[in-house]
Amino acid sequence: MVIAIDGYSSTGKSSLAKRLANQFRFLYVDTGAMYRMVALKALREGWINSKNEINYKLLEKNLPSLNIGFRRSSDGKNMAFLDGEIVEKDIRTMEINDIVSKISSLSIVRSQLVAQQQKIAVGKDLVMDGRDIGTVVFPNADLKIFMQAEADIRTDRRLLELRSNGNLNVSFEEVKANLIQRDLDDQARSDSPLQKASDAVVLDNSEKSAEEVFKLVSSWVLEKINA
Ligand code: C5P
Repeated sequence: MVIAIDGYSSTGKSSLAKRLANQFRFLYVDTGAMYRMVALKALREGWINSKNEINYKLLEKNLPSLNIGFRRSSDGKNMAFLDGEIVEKDIRTMEINDIVSKISSLSIVRSQLVAQQQKIAVGKDLVMDGRDIGTVVFPNADLKIFMQAEADIRTDRRLLELRSNGNLNVSFEEVKANLIQRDLDDQARSDSPLQKASDAVVLDNSEKSAEEVFKLVSSWVLEKINA
């Protein structure tokens, strides 16, 4: 069984996906973390510079040997893993937020990550969250959810995440502007843009608690399991 959760930035996709995965003992894959790891690698290796200019030659040469994945920490958390190093915090900074949509707009990056995402899923029940899961990665997913929420609420959430990762100098305005811009860029790209799959259920959680959303979606999953 595949549950695909797509939607705008910081709408609570990952939190919901993690809880569902725990509840139903499904594998959880955070595809945003995968694009963030490519962005971090790109920064470190000079595939992109501070002006968001891409060095295509370097990127094309080195992308096939990219080594990204996830490891479980001792307390059961999914940790982003790049070249043998846990980079969970390093991928959730404003620096990465500012370049990740540029990196994720590149077809060469997308095709490699989509292939990896499809491979991870073979023979497994899973919850995957991202931007193109229900449209491109798993167009035949059993349950598709498209999440949205008001920008200020999303900004509060991302700010909390950034601060808990030690990014203390970011402002509300800066984070909000980045979220809005990233959503625009993700919707505007030509390769697998962020859009609702025609058969996805829209879930606006501006006025719903995480608990309410979890209970609601759990009931949909149970319906599918029992169908
Ligand atoms: O979900 P998260 O905010 O961590 O995603 C970071 C970025 O990765 C998104 O803004 C988007 O540019 C890219 N992304 C994507 N396709 C996915 C998941 C994330 O393009 N399936």
